Amino acid sequence: MADYKYETHDYDVVVVGAGGAGLRATLGMAEQGLRTACVTKVFPTRSHTVAAQGGIAASLSNMGPDNWQWHMYDTVKGSDWLGDTDAMEYLAREAPKAVYELEHYGVPFSRTEEGKIYQRPFGGHTTEFGEGPPVQRTCAAADRTGHAILHTLYGQSLKEKAEFFIEYFALDLIITDGKCTGVVCWKLDDGTIHVFNAKMVVLATGGYGRAYFSATSAHTCTGDGGGMVARAGLPLQDMEFVQFHPTGIYGSGCLITEGARGEGGYLTNSEGERFMERYAPTYKDLASRDVVSRCITLEIREGRGVGEHKDHMFLNLQHLPPESLHERLPGISESAKIFAGVDVTREPIPILPTVHYNMGGIPTNYWGEVLNPTEETPDAVFPGLMAVGEAGCASVHGANRLGSNSLIDLVVFGRAAAIRAGEVIDRVAPIPPTNVAGVQKALDRFDRIRNANGSTSTAELRLEMQKTMQADAAVFRTDATLAEGMEKMKVIAAKMNDLKVTDRSLIWNSDLMETLELTNLMPNALATIVAAEARKESRGAHAHEDWPERDDANWRKHSLAWIEGNDVKLAYRPVHLDPLTTQEEGGIDLKKIAPKARVY
Ligand SMILES: Cc1cc2nc3c(=O)[nH]c(=O)nc-3n(C[C@H](O)[C@H](O)[C@H](O)COP(=O)(O)OP(=O)(O)OC[C@H]3O[C@@H](n4cnc5c(N)ncnc54)[C@H](O)[C@@H]3O)c2cc1C
Repeated sequence: MADYKYETHDYDVVVVGAGGAGLRATLGMAEQGLRTACVTKVFPTRSHTVAAQGGIAASLSNMGPDNWQWHMYDTVKGSDWLGDTDAMEYLAREAPKAVYELEHYGVPFSRTEEGKIYQRPFGGHTTEFGEGPPVQRTCAAADRTGHAILHTLYGQSLKEKAEFFIEYFALDLIITDGKCTGVVCWKLDDGTIHVFNAKMVVLATGGYGRAYFSATSAHTCTGDGGGMVARAGLPLQDMEFVQFHPTGIYGSGCLITEGARGEGGYLTNSEGERFMERYAPTYKDLASRDVVSRCITLEIREGRGVGEHKDHMFLNLQHLPPESLHERLPGISESAKIFAGVDVTREPIPILPTVHYNMGGIPTNYWGEVLNPTEETPDAVFPGLMAVGEAGCASVHGANRLGSNSLIDLVVFGRAAAIRAGEVIDRVAPIPPTNVAGVQKALDRFDRIRNANGSTSTAELRLEMQKTMQADAAVFRTDATLAEGMEKMKVIAAKMNDLKVTDRSLIWNSDLMETLELTNLMPNALATIVAAEARKESRGAHAHEDWPERDDANWRKHSLAWIEGNDVKLAYRPVHLDPLTTQEEGGIDLKKIAPKARVY
């Protein structure tokens, strides 16, 4: 039995994660006088939310007519009819309130001439239930919206006396009699162990983009919340839906905006051919994101990739006048130089379709309460546990997320979780006492990993997982590639028992931390490929070559994946079709959001 001393901390609420979702939840909890701790493995303002540039969607109507029903329609359609209707209604209705709150907290939004919040157009956001022209719905603070939100929410949370535990790594949840009662953490800079007992734990740990070789997300996006939930015996939902952006820089995954192709850039293969002309004669390099990503992948699979391993493509900008590159794409020119060593005025940029967002995650209702679904009770709540942000799945993005709908998801559901916690937490009840056996279980696991003495390094195994997911569970999916990838992933997951951790120290031990992260990435990756193999249709980001049509009769349902060792058990739960309010009560006309083909 591992013998670690630990310090205990008692709070009403412990939030794990200090990105946009975690900070909004933390602030909302603290504002109500709940004793709130926020635990985070990186400094709050370094969370991946800081990288969000584009903006945050809400129907403020500052630039022209708009309303929440139109926003809801676009979200339903974007989700390819897999989102939960009640959650999507809640998102669209609450979005304006949540943005005005951000404004009052101090987010420095860009302004119109009259001083209103500036809003820009974004893909998939329309008027008149998709019949009218595009709408300007995306509120922006220049191209630093996520940065501005994080700084504001962190400052406000401090003001409300929320307590931050920074560079504490959450290891595992503490489960006591079918209820979450806390979380066990490892403090990275001094090696001490900390047990947080709480009436409510909120997971806001972000996505798991790093299960793939190429991701636009930060290296810290390792699905730790999903890993903890899977180890607690709870399922992950809709994991087969992973959004790809066609042009991440090869290797680093750093995003090259669509604007590069908008300005006249084009893609070429190893034969120097502009292959997009063959696949999409009209829109060519400017076909939609999923189409371009799929074509790049097909070219690579057919042996026409570039580079030593023939595993990526070129994005050419060198034919554009240097002045226009300098003026219109300065950020891209700089990124290409730093991350690919390329001078865009002379050479092409090596690119690869890159994981951008995880639609799937920890299943919740629209209050952020984590579900423990059974066949009879698909919406049963697991007490003491909430999940918000990219880690959660409410589900508002269904099979595909619209741009600028994630930032609004963070604040709407971070706020909802706080409202709900205020209702369900019994303020006078004592904080749950330390569950010594539960803590010991987490520490035994930590100790086993710390002393892992096999023959495979964490970096090697992680790379093997990432390459397999990139090859077989990415954009191009067939029965054969998914079945093959699933078998490969099971072999790779089995090697977790053969890991070798070389550094046994408890202080600033990145080898140990990355190994713990790998133990979280692996269940996320397994659930993704197994759920993708099982889904015999094409919907949203899950484009299946052998099953090219959406099949609502058989597949309009959420997948649930329980991870047991290296095995994944699948089940399904129904999509919520009922709205929060009827049309008579001012709700949406359900005929407007009835399923139809998703064409833009
Ligand atoms: C490059 C890029 C650009 C984007 N642009 C936009 C955009 O313009 N608009 C939009 O709507 N969306 C955008 N997105 C998506 C959106 O930014 C993300 O989905 C969102 O920021 C996720 O926020 P989050 O709060 O869920 O998690 P994150 O911001 O990823 O934060 C996760 C937090 O969890 C903590 N954590 C994780 N594991 C542990 C652990 N084990 N112990 C303790 N703490 C832990 C981390 O320290 C961190 O604080 C973009 C994404 C990327 C990658």
